Amino acid sequence: MRILIVNDDGIYSPGILALAQVASEFGRVTIVAPDVERSSSGHAVTHGRPLSYRRTPIAGFEAFRVDGTPADCVAVGFSISERADVVLSGINLGLNLGNSMWHSGTLAGAKQAALMGSRGIALSTPSTQTEPDFATLQPHVADALRLLLPDARLPLVNVNFPAQPRGMAWTKQSVRHYDGRVVPIKDPMGRQLYWFTVVPMEAAEEGTDRWAIERGLTSFTPLRLDLTDLEALERAKT
Ligand code: MN
Repeated sequence: MRILIVNDDGIYSPGILALAQVASEFGRVTIVAPDVERSSSGHAVTHGRPLSYRRTPIAGFEAFRVDGTPADCVAVGFSISERADVVLSGINLGLNLGNSMWHSGTLAGAKQAALMGSRGIALSTPSTQTEPDFATLQPHVADALRLLLPDARLPLVNVNFPAQPRGMAWTKQSVRHYDGRVVPIKDPMGRQLYWFTVVPMEAAEEGTDRWAIERGLTSFTPLRLDLTDLEALERAKT
């Protein structure tokens, strides 16, 4: 199995190496990742300027750093070598649950794989004051790949690991509104700056990705590329 690994935290993130180490038990791994962090870049692609990439072997893995977005990295990866059978995106330093899926560059890497006719799996874990304990997490990542890789009926899956997984759950996306306040602060020179903030406004619904993580379960959410609201479509037509 040919496995392309991308991320949005940048090629030097510890999460990408932790994922490559596990993935290499399942197939031949190539890493193609942004040269700098591109978190929350969403599904942007670069087409107003050319892209460049450089070979950057990492811990024995064939790897390339790209001056582009996670979605660009999938396209570059598919053109550097044969099209991968699956693209793994992560392991992101930070969860990608519910509304985050709209902003996530990690998820965009997996979506781009599905858009180009391959399969995509996004993998994320919380990152707070300390970095995730990837040695603890790696056996759980291996379990996830053992579950997902053989099942070709799953073209796109979003996986979120709690810090200490104690089970797993198939979930749906939690669509929870957030306040999205833009908070003013001052820089050291007294000039005005602003931070976009995300404070959830509602509790997590049962059976959703956020609900699973709150219970210490690894969340597996199967996704699709079709955003159509089928119920609204039917209502609109009657
Ligand atoms: Mn990130």
